[in-house]
Amino acid sequence: MSDHYAVFGNPIAHSKSPQIHAAFAAQCAQGLRYDAILAPHDGFAQAITDFVAAGGRGANVTLPFKEEAFRLTKRLTDRARIAGAVNTLTFDDNGMIGDNTDGEGLLRDLTTNLLYSLAGRRILLLGAGGAARGVLAPLLASSPAVLTIANRTPAKALQLAKRFAACGPVHGVAYHELAGQSFDLLINATAASLSGELPPLPAGVFAPGSLAYDMMYGETETPFLTFARQNGAARGHDGLGMLVEQAAESFQIWRGVRPHTLPVIAMLRTAGANRSITAG
Ligand code: NDP
Repeated sequence: MSDHYAVFGNPIAHSKSPQIHAAFAAQCAQGLRYDAILAPHDGFAQAITDFVAAGGRGANVTLPFKEEAFRLTKRLTDRARIAGAVNTLTFDDNGMIGDNTDGEGLLRDLTTNLLYSLAGRRILLLGAGGAARGVLAPLLASSPAVLTIANRTPAKALQLAKRFAACGPVHGVAYHELAGQSFDLLINATAASLSGELPPLPAGVFAPGSLAYDMMYGETETPFLTFARQNGAARGHDGLGMLVEQAAESFQIWRGVRPHTLPVIAMLRTAGANRSITAG
C-alpha cells in the first residue's frame, strides 16, 4: 500500500493540493496517495486522530485550522513556533511534528518566480489569521521599510504586530487607518476572496509600480485583484505559485526529495486554475 497524505480544511473542495502532490509524486517517482478531507469546524482534532489511526503519514492544514493545529502539536519546528500556526504535520512513532511552510512558499514565489525584491519596500499585509502568521517572520527578515498588518478585527492585527515586533518594523491597524497611506507590496491573506468579498481598502492604497498579491487562487480574478487593477497596481498575482511552493516544501519534508515547481505551476495555469493580471 502507498503512503497516505491529505489536506484538511473547511471548505476544501476548491483545493488544488491533491493535483499538486500527485504531480510531484509522478515527477519524483514516489508512490503515495494524497486526498482532500473536509473536517467539521468542531472536529479537526478528531479528523486528524482518525487519519493517523488509519495509517496517515502526513497532512497539510488549511483554513481555518492552522492555529488549532499549532495548539494540538507538541513538537514544533522553529518557524512553526514563531508563527503560532501549523500547515504541515508529519506523523511518526512518537506522535506528530508541526511545521509551517507558508512563509517559504510565499517568499519563493515572490522572489524567485516573480523576481520581486522585498528589501526597502512598504508592505501591507491584509488579515491576521493562520496564513498571515506564517508569512510574517520571513517577510520581516527580508528587510522591508515597514510592514503594516490590517485586519477586520483590529485587536488581532495589534496582537500579531506585538508578537513579531522583535523581527522588524511592524504595525497593526484597522482598515480605516489606512486612509492616506500607500504601499509597494499589498498581500491579501484574508479569507474574503473565498466568499467573493473585498477587504474595505481605501482608494490610493496602491503606490505607483505596486504589486498586489492575493494568496487566494481560483478560476476567476479575485475581487482583491480586480480592485488592485482598477486602483493603480502595476502587477497582480494570485496565490497559485505560493501554493505550489509551500507544497514542494512539505513534500520535501515528507519524502526527502524536492520537486521542480515551475512545470507544476505551468500545468495548473494551462488548466485555467489561476489568474494573473498586469495593468496596461
Ligand atoms: P483564517 O481563517 O485563519 O483567517 C482568515 C482571515 O481573513 C482573518 O484575518 C479574518 O479576519 C479575515 N477575513 C475573513 N473574511 C473577511 C472579510 N470578508 N473581509 C475582511 N477580512 C476577512 O484563514 P487563513 O489565514 O488560513 O487563510 C486566509 C486565506 O489565505 C485563504 O483564502 C486561504 O485560502 C489563503 N491561503 C493561501 C495559501 C497559498 O499557498 N496560496 C496558503 C495559506 C492561505 P478576522 O480576524 O476579523 O476574522
